[in-house]
Amino acid sequence: MPLDNLRGLYQQVILERYKKPRNFGRVNPVHRHQRGHNPSCGDTIDLTLQLDPNQERIVDIKFEGEGCAIALASADLMADAVRGRTIPEALQLVERFQAMMRGGEEFPREYRSLNAMKGVAQFPVRIKCANLAWHALKHALQSPATDDSVEEPGFVSNESID
Ligand code: ZN
Repeated sequence: MPLDNLRGLYQQVILERYKKPRNFGRVNPVHRHQRGHNPSCGDTIDLTLQLDPNQERIVDIKFEGEGCAIALASADLMADAVRGRTIPEALQLVERFQAMMRGGEEFPREYRSLNAMKGVAQFPVRIKCANLAWHALKHALQSPATDDSVEEPGFVSNESID
């Protein structure tokens, strides 16, 4: 991709989140642990979640990993958006984010920070970067919690996902 295109794509908020993520790290205790890898760019996200005692709501969510500004900014914005949400609410946000990456509607005001990623939809090569954390979150929420899954995190590659 020419650098000119990248400049327009990396909006201020994406760069800020990339340089100073607010949700980098690991939650304690860890109730769900999911790794995601995007081979097309080399992005890796290691997502940890703390759930409420009923396993219905996300109490805390953090990520670690390495990757491009789009992948890491998307993970950071996602963590803010889904913290405190129920699992069905979070899964709806995943669907909506993936739809926005396909050119769908923006988020309403409550989640408007996520709209910073909307410009990525114009760059098909980078959509997988933006979707990586959301893809990992979906797997984390849909996989049953076991001690094994905490010790050995689930691993998902989005190679085959559009
Ligand atoms: Zn990337």
